[in-house]
Amino acid sequence: MKKRILKSITLLLVSSLIAVTFIGCSNDTSSPSTKVDAPPAATLVMGTNAEFPPFEFVGDNGQPDGFDVALVKEIAKRMDAEIKIENMEFKSLIGSLGNGKIDLVAAGMTVTEERKKEVDFTQAYFTANQMIIIPTGDSIKSASDLKDKVVGVQEGTTGDIIISEDDVEVKEYNVKEVKRYKKGIDAVMDLVNDRIDAVVIDSNPAKEYVASNEGKIVAIQSGMETEEYAMAVKKGNTELLEKVNAALTEIKEDGTYDKLVKEYIQ
Ligand code: GLN
Repeated sequence: MKKRILKSITLLLVSSLIAVTFIGCSNDTSSPSTKVDAPPAATLVMGTNAEFPPFEFVGDNGQPDGFDVALVKEIAKRMDAEIKIENMEFKSLIGSLGNGKIDLVAAGMTVTEERKKEVDFTQAYFTANQMIIIPTGDSIKSASDLKDKVVGVQEGTTGDIIISEDDVEVKEYNVKEVKRYKKGIDAVMDLVNDRIDAVVIDSNPAKEYVASNEGKIVAIQSGMETEEYAMAVKKGNTELLEKVNAALTEIKEDGTYDKLVKEYIQ
């Protein structure tokens, strides 16, 4: 009998303990739920290679800055999203879209047929072309003078693709050797230090590199086809593609685009 009473008291104690714990829990969850009323802002993860001024570079505060960064900040604002930036090698960008590490590439990326097989591009937002950087006073006057020269390019870029194809099969320019660098600036430094003969790179960074090495190097037109820059999303992510395109249209129409061009490019 005594045992039975003891058993029921224990049971009662245990059940009230469970009840208290349960109520305690429900109280706990109720407080954060007041904050949850305003849903957390979505995060747009932008992938870039902050080695491509004026489109992307690391600013004085150590954070990525540049035209593309400012443009994506505007896009995120109009999408009510927070922006997070992943800075990586240019050649890793497309793969990172594929594995979900990033949502959007904004990296002065040229639309090409090959890349279109792997990603979906937004509307274009900038037209550029390849330039050839050479030492001041050099005899190279055009792309055909790249014959038998050692040419530096940024790995995985259109400059690399054009010159490497030439090296392997096209033989339009008959270059002697292609040297690939992770950063355009490293190619330019090798040019300044006489280790290579020329650098083939997009027009805007070319002008920036020439300006920061005044007197030592100049940039000449390559005569290669013009290129369109666009942002890229994972293949099939039409929801994001449409939102980014809508924001881009708005940004172009309301004068924000021109303001950013003046601030970063002209
Ligand atoms: N526009 C070139 C390309 O898409 C270079 C881009 C870059 O170096 N960030 O390949």
